[in-house]
Amino acid sequence: MSERKRRVLLKLSGEAFGGGQLGVNPDVVAGLAKEIAEASADTEIAIVVGGGNFFRGAELSQRGMDRGRADYMGMLGTVMNALALQDFLEQAGAATRVQSAISMTQVAEPYIPRRAERHLEKGRVVIFGAGAGLPYFSTDTVAAQRALEIDAQVVLVAKNGVDGVYDSDPRTNAAAQKIDAITYQEALVQGLKVVDSTAFSLCMDNGMPMVVFGMQPAGNLTKAIRGDRIGTLVSR
Ligand code: UDP
Repeated sequence: MSERKRRVLLKLSGEAFGGGQLGVNPDVVAGLAKEIAEASADTEIAIVVGGGNFFRGAELSQRGMDRGRADYMGMLGTVMNALALQDFLEQAGAATRVQSAISMTQVAEPYIPRRAERHLEKGRVVIFGAGAGLPYFSTDTVAAQRALEIDAQVVLVAKNGVDGVYDSDPRTNAAAQKIDAITYQEALVQGLKVVDSTAFSLCMDNGMPMVVFGMQPAGNLTKAIRGDRIGTLVSR
């Protein structure tokens, strides 16, 4: 029997796609895609994309919108990111499929986990859009759920502007210390918000390890995908 390839679930935040601005910055996405395409030669890669560069439901609802409707807008934003990433991945030579949790069959396959696994076995990069298709969820939580359902070995949470888990928010506290390894229990008790608590607890309950790392400088995505020890390891 042939040995199973390493399979990872990569979570890319929407912020990364916009390069800090609203919408998609093609140069930034092209750079991410190049690294992912290269790494896909020897690792099976599934990706959950965020949508914070377009809309976050919680923010829109604070400004008067119905939360459910605002969350659906957020999910649609993730599909735009998925299509942008698909385009640049294909330009970089990778075969790809997009699966959406909200049906829109002209632009994406529906989410079918067994089919996603088949794509991965064939060397295709699979991009999951539209989150879970459910309001009140975040794409961090979806990353944990998809990783479990497609039997990935690890969830890789790529962050923009922070290179791992810190003991307090490094953007507001200059004395914040980076943590090399932490348990889910500790992260939850300390209220560390770098990843959603729902995502942490889902991984904790099911023994799924997570690596939180920064996507800058260039090369970090490749390192994380092939399993180099960067960022912070969160485990049970
Ligand atoms: N969202 C949702 N259900 C999901 C995934 C996402 O309602 O299963 C909505 C939610 O409004 C969220 C937005 O989509 O704010 C964008 O996703 P997220 O905030 O997780 O993106 P990121 O912060 O990673 O860019």
